[in-house]
Amino acid sequence: MKHLDSLQSDFAFKVVHWQRLAGRHKLAWQNTRDPYRIWVSEIMLQQTQVATVTPYYERFIKRFPDVHSLAQASLDEVLALWSGLGYYRRAKFLHACAKTIVETHEGRFPQDEKVLAELPGIGRSTAAAIAAFAFQRRAAILDGNVKRVLARVFALELDPQSSKSLRVFWDLAESLLPQDVDMPAYTQGLMDLGATCCLQRKPICTQCPLQGICQAKQAGKQEAYPLAKAKKTLPLRHWLMVWISDGERVLMVRRPGQGIWASMWSLPSIEALPDTVVKSITESNSKSLSAPFHNKELPVAMHQIWRDRYHVSINQETFSAQSAAVLHASLKPKVKLEYALNLEQSFTHFRLVAPLLRVFIEREPLSNKADRAKEPSLAYALNSAAIGQQQSLWLRMDEALELGIPRAIRKLLEDAT
Ligand code: SF4
Repeated sequence: MKHLDSLQSDFAFKVVHWQRLAGRHKLAWQNTRDPYRIWVSEIMLQQTQVATVTPYYERFIKRFPDVHSLAQASLDEVLALWSGLGYYRRAKFLHACAKTIVETHEGRFPQDEKVLAELPGIGRSTAAAIAAFAFQRRAAILDGNVKRVLARVFALELDPQSSKSLRVFWDLAESLLPQDVDMPAYTQGLMDLGATCCLQRKPICTQCPLQGICQAKQAGKQEAYPLAKAKKTLPLRHWLMVWISDGERVLMVRRPGQGIWASMWSLPSIEALPDTVVKSITESNSKSLSAPFHNKELPVAMHQIWRDRYHVSINQETFSAQSAAVLHASLKPKVKLEYALNLEQSFTHFRLVAPLLRVFIEREPLSNKADRAKEPSLAYALNSAAIGQQQSLWLRMDEALELGIPRAIRKLLEDAT
């Protein structure tokens, strides 16, 4: 790291001056000092682009204008508003954090970044951003964009995955903090630089206020920083997703509170497949799969779903009459089966490949028109205290799409409507 002392004094001044002239000033969550709105936007912006976040943020703030309204909402409603934004743990933490703020901080956000960082789902950088924007605190942020800017300006040859490197980045970010400068403008300037000038590929150095002091630019090696992460191959997991429908309604189940898509609504799935089925999936070159289950094996598979995965059996009292009827119908040997496309998605620690088994059941034996009219509407179901015990819903497609559903599953359902 060369000439650090002389660079430090210039750094903040240049960032702030540039932000005022050329930074972003009209984002939906700017021009407020309300820590609640700043916090919601910062959580939504983690791993998600501004253009994607904006409509979600506006809908969310309209429905939950303050921390009290969010704390009082059901997790179902929060997840439904988050549906499609991805990384759903953020929504669960947001909800849990709102409750903590109301219950233990009298509904007021703490001003100290260290106290903020102890709240659910708020990491060190997010805490600093809230403290700087809402309370003008002198706190350093360090998200992916800021790391890229620092790595380039100071030509940091650091292993991006080591904790020692992270400490160096944090020390540098803190040492660069200005003494008497507008903290919101400085913090926003760093974010704006990473988002609009110092892009991962083809940075626009001609518009960058740091071009005169940027060591990567001077060496003509901008894209060499930050050093590339060692590529790791994600392990594969195979599930079987089951789409049970009578042509009008679809069976949705609530996922467990922990793990992938926690607490969201999804299609039933079998997540521990027999080796023969995995072999059949891995050897399949085409998108459609030869049937891994014969019809006579389906009842066993369906029982396995309910018993092992959702801890319910069809006779339990908590299982709704409609869902029991669906399950009974899906166990009929003459039910029509069809394998649809594989659903594929990468998560942080694994890649999921899940063939989709469509199960078509007859509508009339299940529920005739008069019975269907008596079934609870979604509004009723979501407001019902009983829904927490109930693991499944038999819904019209438009009702299903109002639930908090993972993006991949939503796309499947939308494509089918
Ligand atoms: S000069 Fe280029 S590489 Fe250096 S910080 Fe600015 S945009 Fe990034």
